[in-house]
Amino acid sequence: MSAPVVRAILEHIPVERVLTAPESVEGLSRDQAAWAPYGRPAAVVRATCTQDVVAVVRACVEHRTPVVARGAGTGLSGGANAIDGCVVVALDAMDEIVEVNPLEQLAVVQPGVVNDDLRTAVAAHGLWYPPDPASSPWSTIGGNVATNAGGLCCVKYGVTRDYVLALEMVNGLGEVVRLGRRTAKGVAGYDLAGLVVGSEGTLGIVTEVTVRLRPLPAPATTIAGFFSSLTDAGTAVRAIAAAGVTPSALELIDRHCLRAVDEWKNMGLSADAEAVLLARVDEPGEAGHAQAERVVACFREAGAGWAERSTDEQEADALLAARRLAYPALERLGPVVTEDVCVPKEHVPEMLGRIEKTAARHDIVIANIAHAGDGNLHPMLITPPGDDAAKDRAQTAFDEIIADAIALGGTVTGEHGVGLLKRRGLAAEVAPEVMAMHHAVKRALDPHGVLNPGKVLT
Ligand SMILES: Cc1cc2nc3c(=O)[nH]c(=O)nc-3n(C[C@H](O)[C@H](O)[C@H](O)COP(=O)(O)OP(=O)(O)OC[C@H]3O[C@@H](n4cnc5c(N)ncnc54)[C@H](O)[C@@H]3O)c2cc1C
Repeated sequence: MSAPVVRAILEHIPVERVLTAPESVEGLSRDQAAWAPYGRPAAVVRATCTQDVVAVVRACVEHRTPVVARGAGTGLSGGANAIDGCVVVALDAMDEIVEVNPLEQLAVVQPGVVNDDLRTAVAAHGLWYPPDPASSPWSTIGGNVATNAGGLCCVKYGVTRDYVLALEMVNGLGEVVRLGRRTAKGVAGYDLAGLVVGSEGTLGIVTEVTVRLRPLPAPATTIAGFFSSLTDAGTAVRAIAAAGVTPSALELIDRHCLRAVDEWKNMGLSADAEAVLLARVDEPGEAGHAQAERVVACFREAGAGWAERSTDEQEADALLAARRLAYPALERLGPVVTEDVCVPKEHVPEMLGRIEKTAARHDIVIANIAHAGDGNLHPMLITPPGDDAAKDRAQTAFDEIIADAIALGGTVTGEHGVGLLKRRGLAAEVAPEVMAMHHAVKRALDPHGVLNPGKVLT
């Protein structure tokens, strides 16, 4: 006998799109956050249009049942994790690119469009959607909007919020609302579209997004620097910022990651260095040449054993591919929890040093990748499968990394979101008055508390 909320949903949505069998819902009940708890949903509904989402939210309001939005489930904070008895709305089938408008340099998309698919579609018009999370082959624009996703090129081009012009969403009353605008400028009213970006499905379920586009950038030059210490690599990041150079990417990969990727994909990557920095410069002509030279100089002055502009595009592509593959490669070694702290650029060397000390103090492996140019570090805590003592030590290390980031003037999450894993961190980071403002906003947009409850806010 199905739950009353499921029966209410079945009055509007065909049974083949309302999954209730345990084996059908299990794989759709959680994201990629290794430690985050998840429950069993009463149903997973595959939405195909905005009215499906309206029907689900209204049924959930009527039966006071939590409703959890789901894109591709690549999240790393437990944001899309099911709550016992909830309804998960899977939006991946709403994957139409509704409009690409070269004159206005915008695109209108449904939430289930995969990031790379949007980038490919607009490239055919000579246009570019910059936010490029390393999950871009899988993650959806709806998920990217809900987490305010960042990525490799955000150091120069900004994050998802900088590209969201307008949204259609279903609020906590089951109403369809349109927020934002299509025009190049506009200041009518509060920035409610901006508010919803990064709200992790707790303020509304996004059913359409209008994104800003840019012309395709010039081909980039890659500069690689190999360092014998993690903190030297951090010093190079600070030096680049101090020199006023803004590369179009500045990524860090440490030896744990290089080794894990190489063992998996056999790419012939050197694992001799403790850390590799990869910078990309996409300024055309002489200016780009000068920027690349300054990056090489910053790398060398910070102690790089080897630093050069890549003349071998294949090698440069392999290193960038290694950066993108680091997370799945490490996952093969055991459960991985990915941290996401972000610190001011001046403190990147100090923060990297503290992470190394934390790993040694608690006797756990912490691998590092980073959108280093943003100060956004992803220490990845790896524990052997089934080793509960190591997991406990890793939990302590996780909390210490958060405390260190806050102490250095940073934030507990640069791009992955609060979800379940960073709720205590958020409460530690913001003042009680600011937390009260968060709760007030939540109550205003979701008065019955059905939208992804227990995420972001405690
Ligand atoms: C290998 C790998 C690399 C990654 N690299 C990056 C990176 O470089 N930068 C980065 O920012 N993140 C990165 N991530 C994290 C993740 O990919 C992003 O958070 C991404 O934006 C999640 O998109 P998704 O479609 O998978 O969303 P999901 O995981 O399904 O959901 C994420 C959150 O958004 C909510 N949500 C989803 N769709 C909607 C919607 N339509 N309306 C309202 N709420 C919704 C969910 O409830 C949940 O809270 C990476 C993850 C992996 C596995």
